[in-house]
Amino acid sequence: MPEHEDEEEKKNPQPEPGMPFPDPEELSKKLADFLKTSFGDTISISKVQEGFNPFMQTPGGESHDLRNEEEKSEDILHFDYIPRDIKAHLDRFVIKQEDAKRALSIAVCDHYNHAKYLNRLRSKDPSAAEQVEFAKQNVIVVGPTGVGKTYLIKHIAELIGVPFVKADATKFSETGYVGADVDDLVRELVRKADGDVELAEYGIIYIDEIDKIATKGDMMGRDVSGRGVQTTLLKLMEETEVPLRNPQDIQSQMQAMFEMTKGKGGKDTINTRHILFIVSGAFSGLEKIIEKRIKQGSIGFGADVAQQDSEKVLAEELTTGDFLEFGFEAEFIGRLPVRVVCEHLESKDLFEIMKNSEGSLIRQYEKEFEAYGIQALFEDGALKKIADLAAEEKTGARGLITVCEKVLRNFKFELPGTAITELSVDGEMISNPAAALQRILESAAAVGDSKLLGELTAYRRKFEEEHGVRLIFETEAIAAIEKIVSGKNQSGLTVCDDLFRDFQFGLKLIQQNTGRNTFHIGTEAVSDPDKFLSDLVVSSYGGSRPAAGEANV
Ligand code: ADP
Repeated sequence: MPEHEDEEEKKNPQPEPGMPFPDPEELSKKLADFLKTSFGDTISISKVQEGFNPFMQTPGGESHDLRNEEEKSEDILHFDYIPRDIKAHLDRFVIKQEDAKRALSIAVCDHYNHAKYLNRLRSKDPSAAEQVEFAKQNVIVVGPTGVGKTYLIKHIAELIGVPFVKADATKFSETGYVGADVDDLVRELVRKADGDVELAEYGIIYIDEIDKIATKGDMMGRDVSGRGVQTTLLKLMEETEVPLRNPQDIQSQMQAMFEMTKGKGGKDTINTRHILFIVSGAFSGLEKIIEKRIKQGSIGFGADVAQQDSEKVLAEELTTGDFLEFGFEAEFIGRLPVRVVCEHLESKDLFEIMKNSEGSLIRQYEKEFEAYGIQALFEDGALKKIADLAAEEKTGARGLITVCEKVLRNFKFELPGTAITELSVDGEMISNPAAALQRILESAAAVGDSKLLGELTAYRRKFEEEHGVRLIFETEAIAAIEKIVSGKNQSGLTVCDDLFRDFQFGLKLIQQNTGRNTFHIGTEAVSDPDKFLSDLVVSSYGGSRPAAGEANV
C-alpha cells in the first residue's frame, strides 16, 4: 500500500469490510460523545432511529425521499364531501356525541373546501389568492376522557385521507425547548404522510389536555411555560413555515446533508396554513365559571341553571369570555372558533358501543378467541353487565377494556388447547367469572371425544354459512350426541344431519319473525328435536309456550 494512503487511513479509519454498522443505540452514543467533546452542551442529539444509516443508500440509490408524491396530496384538492357524508361515516363508529359529530363535520368541510378553493385561485391568480381572508375553522373540544374525542378525529382523518397526529399539551410545558417540540408535531405529520410534504400540509394536528396550559391568572412556574406554549401554538395555528429538519437534531441535519450531496433540492419547510388544529380537554371547573357569570348577569336565572345538566350548560352557554376566565390568552382562543362539547357516556351508551359500533371491542375479543378455534358469543345480558361495571370506572369507553380484560383474561389462558370450541358469555359469567370458568373446564373434561368436537364445529360452520344462522352446542348436548354417535356407530356429522334436518326451515322462520340469529342447542334439542323446534317457532309468533333455547339469546 503506498505510504500516503496509509496516513490517510490513520486520520480517517475506514470500517473493515464486512464490519457491521453500529446499532442505533451505539451510534447515538458515539455521536453524542463526539459532539460533547467538540461543542460542549450546545448541540443535542435525539435517538438515532432503527434502520437509519447515514452512510448507506436505500436500494436503487435513493434515500427516503420527502417529496415527489403528488398524487396523494392531489386527492385532498378534489375534496367533495358534504357534512352529511362525514357525519354518516362517523355514525358507523361513534355512538352518541351528536353535536360534536355535526360540528366537526361542518368544520372539516369548510376547512378543506376553502383549501381547495384557494389552491384553484392560486393556480389562476396567485396575488388574488394571497389577499383572500379566511378564519381557519380550528376546533376546541370540551369533554371528559374516553368519550370518543380522539376516535372522532381519527375517523375523520381516515375518511378524507389526510395524516393525523395526536399529542398531549402537557408534554410541551414540561420541556425547556418549547418551540422546538411544538414544531415536531408538524414534522410528525410529514412522517405520517410517508414523507409527502404537500399532503402533510393538509393534515390534522390534535392536541389533548389543552386545559393544562391555561395560566389561571398567576404568573408563576409552569403557568409561565403554559403561556409560552400558547404563544408557540398560536403561530402554528395562524401560518408559519416549519423547517423539515429539526435544527436541534443532528440526525436529521445529517440526513439533510447527505441528501444535498446527492443533489436533492426542493422544499425544506412545511407551511401550516392548511393544517387543521383541534384541541381538547376536560376543562374541569369551566361549568362553574359559566354558572357564576350567568348568576351575576341575571338575577333569578341562577336557580334554573343549577338544575340543568352541566353538559347542557356548557354546550349552550359557553363563550370566549369563559375560556379567558379559565386562563387562555385571547389571541389563542380566538384562533379556535369552533367549540364542541362531548357528553359523558352512561352505561346504556357503553352497551350501545359494544353492540353497534363497527369498531366495537367485542369484535376484537371474538377474533382473539377465534384465533384459538373458539367461537365466543357475547349475550346481551353480558354486555349489560360489562357496561354497568365499566360505567363505574368513570373513564368512558376505556372502562370497557379494563372490565373485559379483567373478566376474560383467565378464559383466554385456560380455554385454548382444551376441548372447548364455543364460549357463550352471559351475565352470570361476568358477575362470577371464576365459577363460570371452573364449570366450563369441568364439562370440557367430561367430553372426551375430540374427533366429535371437530365434527360438530364443522357442522356448525357449514350451517351458519348455508343458512345464516349460528348454532351453539352446549356441553351437555355434546355429551348426549356423543352417546348417539357411539350407540349407532355413525359419524357426528351424520347424526347431526339426521337430528337437525328440519332446523334450517324452522330457525329461518324464527329469524324472520324476531331477527334472532343465534340458537343454543341444549339437551332438549337432542332428545326431542321436533318439539324443541316447534316450541321455538310458536314462541317466535308471540305464543305463550316457553321455549328452551329462548332464554339464552
Ligand atoms: P378520548 O375522548 O379520551 O379521546 P378515545 O377517543 O381515545 O377517548 O376513546 C378510547 C376508545 O374508546 C376508542 O378507541 C373507542 O374504541 C372507544 N370509544 C370512546 N368513545 C366512543 C364512542 N362515543 N363511540 C364508540 N366508541 C367509543
